[in-house]
Amino acid sequence: MNRKYTREISVGDVKIGNNSRVTVQSMTTTITKDVEATVNQILELEEAGCDLIRFAVNDFDDAQAITKIKEKIHIPTIADIQYDYKLAVESVKNGIDCVRINPGNIGSKIKVKEVVDACKSKGIPIRVGVNSGSIHKNLLEKYHGVNEDSIVQSALEELEVLESLNFYDTKVSLKASNVNLSIASYRKFSSLSEYPLHLGITEAGPGINAVIKSSVGIGTLLAEGIGDTIRVSLTDSPVEEVKVGRAILKSLGLLKSGVELISCPTCARTTIDLINISKEVENKLSELDKNITVALMGCPVNGPGEAREADIGITASNGVGIIFKRGQIVKKVSEDELLTELYKEIEQL
Ligand code: SF4
Repeated sequence: MNRKYTREISVGDVKIGNNSRVTVQSMTTTITKDVEATVNQILELEEAGCDLIRFAVNDFDDAQAITKIKEKIHIPTIADIQYDYKLAVESVKNGIDCVRINPGNIGSKIKVKEVVDACKSKGIPIRVGVNSGSIHKNLLEKYHGVNEDSIVQSALEELEVLESLNFYDTKVSLKASNVNLSIASYRKFSSLSEYPLHLGITEAGPGINAVIKSSVGIGTLLAEGIGDTIRVSLTDSPVEEVKVGRAILKSLGLLKSGVELISCPTCARTTIDLINISKEVENKLSELDKNITVALMGCPVNGPGEAREADIGITASNGVGIIFKRGQIVKKVSEDELLTELYKEIEQL
């Protein structure tokens, strides 16, 4: 997949932009200064495959907790600052790897300069995060409300402030809860700028609808080569955000890690309990660190042929379990032993 060129920045040891691998971010839901709770949640997120973690820095205690948090975790950190530039400076002092802040929210240019100087002194990038709720009034009037023009212009103006201070290590997000608006905004910005992009659909909500909104919005852009790092926002555990984010990347071939499961939707020809089998296999193989595709197919007539791209697959009929590799049947076993045999074969791959 061709990816659009963007400038490269580094958040800790993770590179973003310039064709680096697309990374998955999440945000903690703990009180940041509660070091133990924050560290525990980040370790859980690391386990799920999170590449970068952002947390809110709401006061000096939060900023000062960064050093202690960083001692116990392994992924780069991003401080989310709302208005107070001093919290950004304090976060940098305490070892943060990136600051998310909008110059327009900080106030005077002298304050912005203090943040920029602190970041420059340690080689730390800034994320400018524009969303549909944060567009300045003058732009809303000029562009007749919230649309891709006002969102993109808002981001460009935030960037101009940083550029006027000779700061270019910036990534940008342009989030809206409306999928079409998000896609249009990112597309437009991407056509005008080479800053790396952080993709997300904000306030996507809970449950399956949120997963679909994020998958469609983020997935559409990634499929067009737009986007360098992503965050799926769910009203749910951040671990779920990471799982969905990684699944989006996997579905587009942007993440080669672990087992890719494919299974047929079942139909009147289905001869095994594929729904429960697929749940069991997904559970069993979720932690396996092997880049293989495993197919679970409902009937031997169409199954092996339809799944010929898979490294290994199973199906069954009349009590006989069938194992196939790249579409060719390699073994027949009793249906009761099918999964045990599948796991044995996978071990040998
Ligand atoms: Fe139906 Fe067989 Fe195709 Fe599954 S593989 S959808 S059971 S025809």
